[in-house]
Amino acid sequence: MAEPVIHHRTPQYRKIFEQATGRLKRVFMTQGPVYTITGSGTSAMEASLVNFHSAGDEVLVLEAGKFGERFTHLAKAYGLKVTVLKAPYGDVVEPEEVKAALKKNPLIRAVCSQLCETSTAALHDVKEIAKVVQQSSALLIVDAISGLGADRLETDAWGVDLVVTASQKALMLPPGLAFISVSEKAQARMKAARLPKFYLNLALYEKGMPDWDTPFTSALTLVIGLNKALEMIEAEGLESVFKRCQLLGEFTRAKLKSLGLELFSKAPSATVSAASVPAGINGEEIVKIMRDQKGVSIAGGQGEMKGKIIRIAHMGAITKKDLEEGLVLLEETLNEMKVKGAK
Ligand SMILES: *Cc1c(COP(=O)(O)O)cnc(C)c1O
Repeated sequence: MAEPVIHHRTPQYRKIFEQATGRLKRVFMTQGPVYTITGSGTSAMEASLVNFHSAGDEVLVLEAGKFGERFTHLAKAYGLKVTVLKAPYGDVVEPEEVKAALKKNPLIRAVCSQLCETSTAALHDVKEIAKVVQQSSALLIVDAISGLGADRLETDAWGVDLVVTASQKALMLPPGLAFISVSEKAQARMKAARLPKFYLNLALYEKGMPDWDTPFTSALTLVIGLNKALEMIEAEGLESVFKRCQLLGEFTRAKLKSLGLELFSKAPSATVSAASVPAGINGEEIVKIMRDQKGVSIAGGQGEMKGKIIRIAHMGAITKKDLEEGLVLLEETLNEMKVKGAK
């Protein structure tokens, strides 16, 4: 990525893009097309709605946290009719609830879920949800922005129609790329979808594919990095990557518990873990001290969870050593805060 920037409409670049896309499909576990968009993850979430729907279409959104809520905001912004299945933060929506909602309203055209709801560290049972959605005419849209490449997601085998991810989480890259896979069931819907779109019109991306061309300027520096990151995943083996992230998650949660912290998520994920902050301590303060005084980046809560939880990632390039050292410093931080009279 540090090499001089080449032109994106050249044979050299097309070759890299072709190779990266082939590797990407293997991580998505799909034989179908995967499109690369220059944009953050949300651009692919938006693409998953605008390319497959018309105004007034009904969608079912599984809301288990902030990113589930984002699907609702997005769908409403485009005039879709949204039914929400809400789970308390830390919990997930069960496949049975999805089944009942689809039965109650056969007009539902799509079901939107997260794989890992990163804001709460809760993992949806996408495999079982897919079984339920496949029995209906609805599409299953899965935001796997944090989870893809950490938590298992078998796009084709499970029958997930649209999978969305981005460069900056388990794919170990800087932010700036978003990706979306499209099933045959979803492809059949594209032509009839009337929602407005231009930059995110996947038909344009599809058109360029045979020549490994992109409709708009590719963030080729990131794609060069993507090709390398995916090569690393390939060298380790996708199954080993899943296993590693799972074990690191178990390690992290055991350590958090040993520090006397209560785990926040009822459905643990291999991507990220969260713990409730002890009474009388401000979680934002923990994050700040860790960052400014200890040199360790952890995350706090978002929205309603602000100050109440801390989150530790174990996907992507994060190593056991990072976690061991970081958790020692977390312990130190908590002890210092308690001594000082926490605020
Ligand atoms: C990080 C994340 C997003 C945010 O995407 P942007 O890249 O900020 O647009 C959306 N959904 C999930 C589940 C995430 O983890």
